[in-house]
Amino acid sequence: MSESTKAPEAAPGAHAQAPEQGAGVVDVLVIGAGVTGIYQLYRAREAGFSAQLIEAGTGVGGTWYWNRYPQARFDSESYTYGYLFSKELWEEWEWSEHFAGQPEIERYFNHVVDRFDLRRHISFGAKVTSAVWDEPSGTWTVRTEDGTERRARFVVAATGILSVPFIPDIPGRADFRGEQHHTGRWPKTPVDFAGKRVAQIGTGSSGVQIVPAIADEVASITVYQKVADWLTPLNNRPITPEEQADLKASFESIRDTLNTSVSGFLHQITMRSGLEDTPEQRQEFYEQKWNSPGFTKLSEHYYDMTTNPTVNQEFCEFIAAKIRSIVKDPATAEKLIPKGHGYGGRRPPFGTGYYEAYNKPNVHLVDINETPIIRITETGIETSEGVHEVDIIIWATGYDFGTGALNRLGVQGRDGLPLKEYWADGPSTYLGVVTAGFPNFFFPGGPHGALGNNPRYSGDQVDYVMDVLAHARDHGHDVVAVTAAAEEEWTNLVNGSESQSSFLKSSYFYGANIPGKAIKQLLNPTGRWKLQELINESVANGFPAFSFAKAEQRG
Ligand code: NAP
Repeated sequence: MSESTKAPEAAPGAHAQAPEQGAGVVDVLVIGAGVTGIYQLYRAREAGFSAQLIEAGTGVGGTWYWNRYPQARFDSESYTYGYLFSKELWEEWEWSEHFAGQPEIERYFNHVVDRFDLRRHISFGAKVTSAVWDEPSGTWTVRTEDGTERRARFVVAATGILSVPFIPDIPGRADFRGEQHHTGRWPKTPVDFAGKRVAQIGTGSSGVQIVPAIADEVASITVYQKVADWLTPLNNRPITPEEQADLKASFESIRDTLNTSVSGFLHQITMRSGLEDTPEQRQEFYEQKWNSPGFTKLSEHYYDMTTNPTVNQEFCEFIAAKIRSIVKDPATAEKLIPKGHGYGGRRPPFGTGYYEAYNKPNVHLVDINETPIIRITETGIETSEGVHEVDIIIWATGYDFGTGALNRLGVQGRDGLPLKEYWADGPSTYLGVVTAGFPNFFFPGGPHGALGNNPRYSGDQVDYVMDVLAHARDHGHDVVAVTAAAEEEWTNLVNGSESQSSFLKSSYFYGANIPGKAIKQLLNPTGRWKLQELINESVANGFPAFSFAKAEQRG
């Protein structure tokens, strides 16, 4: 391992760019300045490793850097998404709303990197094109689009599970003469919607935030829906001064709850079957859920809401009745009511004023199952009913989930094996953090780890990566590789635990939204507790799933 340097104390406001590594070998090269990568950089430097982070964008935030579309916001409570490693950070940062919007979230990540003097270790505009393992030296050579090469002992790809936008292959897209933007690559210069005719394709968590946000500004917005989802209100509101004081005073207990909660939220599941309540009590309970914040509809519901068809169907009927009561046009209301799945079959979206927006005369819904899109023309969208002229197209069509970013990094492991090839039939991992044949390569926050509030389980994985790296350093090892047997065991466990998850195989959690992608489990249906249990066992037993060795030639 190369010379390590201890991270200097926090010096807010440092803005210098990271120096290029040249021929030197950095201990830890992190890819991606999102919530996971920033924490990884912080932990690596705090532990005394030399560490650098490279980021394709020109700023920090990851998802919260790229997704700057109107009304992009958390649907995890702000304080449950932020970092828990510093009490001072917790006390000095005040979130303004229970579910903060993108500008505030981006400010938070900038605050963190400056507060902990991380910015000078980050290179921006550095899009990775390849990462190639060199066995004799036990190092990775990472090349970026501008031709720069960096060498690293360990590479941590914190590239995210929802970072590669998917745009369906509809003919004529390149011919469109107006503006078109994907939600996940939204321009920094605000899009001028005033008086414009807009088409929005896609109605997932991103799309449902945009429609009410721009409805009053645009001349018209036509929403092309493939699948209706069970949207319920986000119920966002400002954090009151009393709540701010409570949050500050409760750091330790909140941290402990979040660090051990199965979902990574503060929510508590209702330890009662829906059938233990009377029908009247259940209706009252559903009404409470409708009025409660964000994910509580899932994570504070009856424990059997997703598994008991009677309860699930009844909750869906309750939501359907709400939709019919809000949306004045009965035909539109029927289109907005999901038909093919119950609550929790797909990742539920949360919205503010989404159903209400369809009562405006300039907001229209097209169900593409009834009225398919045929092509994009120079001036609009052609469906089976004719051409609808628009000025702007919004692609809210989702992502190549889980493996999309990792498969695009150009990673080549032992014997030149491309990761993309190794994972052609779906990912195989150990604890969702490493894969066999790719030594010294880690991907916290990647496939087979995800379930619940993202920063919480990805933070568990970063901590585990740090345990492995510290063990290697303490024992004078340069090369860390997971065994094929350990990888197989975890991958089989994940693939064999489908019944523990309510998500349908037709959802993006199995890659079903990407044409040609293997339909494989991309989440961790065993849950966070199993992941934590296996991590703890691994640490306690000295990392039996890994082989540790010295490199033949030290770089
Ligand atoms: P998404 O949930 O995958 O939604 C994309 C939608 O577009 C899907 O309904 C998809 O249908 C549809 N679609 C695909 N091709 C289409 C076509 N040709 N025509 C019409 N519709 C088409 O993507 P997203 O809304 O960007 O959200 C992704 C994830 O990001 C969320 O699930 C959530 O985890 C996260 N997110 C979180 C927040 C938040 O925290 N507030 C906000 C936004 C996003 P199929 O699924 O059938 O392909």
